[in-house]
Amino acid sequence: MNSISTDTADKEVQQVHLWNHCHNCDARPIAGRRFHCETCPESPDNDLCEPCYELLQKGKIKHPADDSYAASNAHENEVVEHRFTVHEGKPITLYEKWLEICHPNVPDPVLPYPFVVRPLFSAGMDSVIAGYAFVVNIEGYHQPVLLTALHVIDALIKQKGIDCTDKNKNYTGSELPTVITEVSLFDVCADNWMMAPLGTAGSMWVLPGARTGDEEPYSDRDIAAFWVPSADAKNIKPAPLAFQSPAKGEPVWVAARLTEKPGQELFKAVVVEVNQRSLVFKYEDPAEKPKYLSGSPLVNQKGEVVAIIVGGGDLNGQKLGHGNHVDNIRQHLAGSR
Ligand SMILES: [Zn+2]
Ligand SMILES: [Zn+2]
Repeated sequence: MNSISTDTADKEVQQVHLWNHCHNCDARPIAGRRFHCETCPESPDNDLCEPCYELLQKGKIKHPADDSYAASNAHENEVVEHRFTVHEGKPITLYEKWLEICHPNVPDPVLPYPFVVRPLFSAGMDSVIAGYAFVVNIEGYHQPVLLTALHVIDALIKQKGIDCTDKNKNYTGSELPTVITEVSLFDVCADNWMMAPLGTAGSMWVLPGARTGDEEPYSDRDIAAFWVPSADAKNIKPAPLAFQSPAKGEPVWVAARLTEKPGQELFKAVVVEVNQRSLVFKYEDPAEKPKYLSGSPLVNQKGEVVAIIVGGGDLNGQKLGHGNHVDNIRQHLAGSR
């Protein structure tokens, strides 16, 4: 008898996609099955819930949405067939325990400014402004390093017909460094960032273990790195890279700007899970989180970078994020992944 009632209870647990919202009805998180567009450049606007996907099949809604990242990167008059994959959710109970972890009462760190940038990636005649990036100093290296998430370059990756996912068994990591010629860096926290160039980053690192397309929150392979020639970085104040990932329960801060007001701001959070493949954090104030953060830094109380932010999600009125943590970043940079 017991086993029957347990089975019934299990079936009633809601299946959700914590890290995805529906770009049509804005369900956060998506419950039930999720339809993910593999054709659009990776962005938070690539998913539909099942009812909205059915509307799309009937021609009643638009994909990509007009105000999406994919639409802004589409070539005019280009007819593209968008290929969707279907994904099952995970029990909501897996995530609810994260919401119970308390926020330590500690003061904010002091950060260098500016070290968070808006990058413009150029590949010959093509260029794309995408996500965020930041500059770090790493002991033992003679130049600062620009770090971001690999998926922020996905529009350029797809434009160039490069496949950085697991489907490409021949991927070596040197495909992008031969194509991306320059990264122009802008001060994202300036009053008008487009008028505030900070310098350029040069050659891209060959990172054989970096990939796009992993299921969130597995963000351990989502990384891109570029040298920042010291002469080109006089206006940038790099932050140090931490030696070790923070532990569960430790405070962390997202360094970013809100679109409405200039200046570098800190959004306090607490680490709710760390494992080999992911670092998940919960915001202290769910109201203040900026909308898009991919490629932004997560820092500890000493002001050291502990992760590259990769994604975010909403649950029961709280906001969560996840990133590629420094233990993995260091392995990629050391060539051991
Ligand atoms: Zn929907
Ligand atoms: Zn699409």
